[in-house]
Amino acid sequence: MRCIVSILVQFAAKIKWLSRCTIGTMKTLASLVLVLLATALFAAAPEEFSTSAGALQIIPIQHASLLIKAGGKVLYIDPAQGVYDGLPPADYIFITDTHGDHMVPAVVDKLKKPSTVIVAPKAVAEKFPGALVMANGDTKTIGVFKVDAIPMYNLKPADNGQTYHEKGRGNGYIVTYGGKRIYIAGDTEGIPEMRALKNIDVAFIPMNLPFTMTPQAAAEAVRAFHPGVVYPYHYRGQDTAIFAKALEGTGIDVRLRDWYAK
Ligand SMILES: [Zn+2]
Repeated sequence: MRCIVSILVQFAAKIKWLSRCTIGTMKTLASLVLVLLATALFAAAPEEFSTSAGALQIIPIQHASLLIKAGGKVLYIDPAQGVYDGLPPADYIFITDTHGDHMVPAVVDKLKKPSTVIVAPKAVAEKFPGALVMANGDTKTIGVFKVDAIPMYNLKPADNGQTYHEKGRGNGYIVTYGGKRIYIAGDTEGIPEMRALKNIDVAFIPMNLPFTMTPQAAAEAVRAFHPGVVYPYHYRGQDTAIFAKALEGTGIDVRLRDWYAK
């Protein structure tokens, strides 16, 4: 009888231990889920690249907005759409064009610190006193990055007769760090200047009508300059699977990400 009681006592103790352990595990899991949720709210997961100068991260924010981290520096491209709470202040901000999905002065103000360098074409720089102006074709070294300003424009007016992006107003950019060349196309069609690019490691290509081009036209232009990796961005309302399918078998690494996550 004593033996049975002792077994029962031991059994009860085990159950207590087990339940404590389970509660502890559940608490850990719950906090992990909270951290993951918070990260998801702020931005998509970083895309990692190795360079000769160390790791480089690219974080898609939303639509045309992204963040590059390298060499301990933070570079925003077109900070305009998406959530910026919890993201680091900017060392550099590069803006491509005047439209509201690329240039939002209130967001620039939020990310800016006294030492932030803003790089922009003339039409944008007018809105940001002290900004460094780059014209199509210019090359500059900005801190840890080398930057080339690439034309971005529409080849013809849209069906409604409007030309949304006139040649010379906006800049696409090639950002070079540690030998890696990252091309952010801006709002453009598959212009000859894009097709002629060489040695692009990572490209961000827009696709949406009537402002830029179709996924098919984007794929055709990307085939011509053959980047190592390509991300469709600025694609609201388009089927990026069409773009990916059109590049199958080319050896180009097409990376589809959700740039419009809620
Ligand atoms: Zn746009």
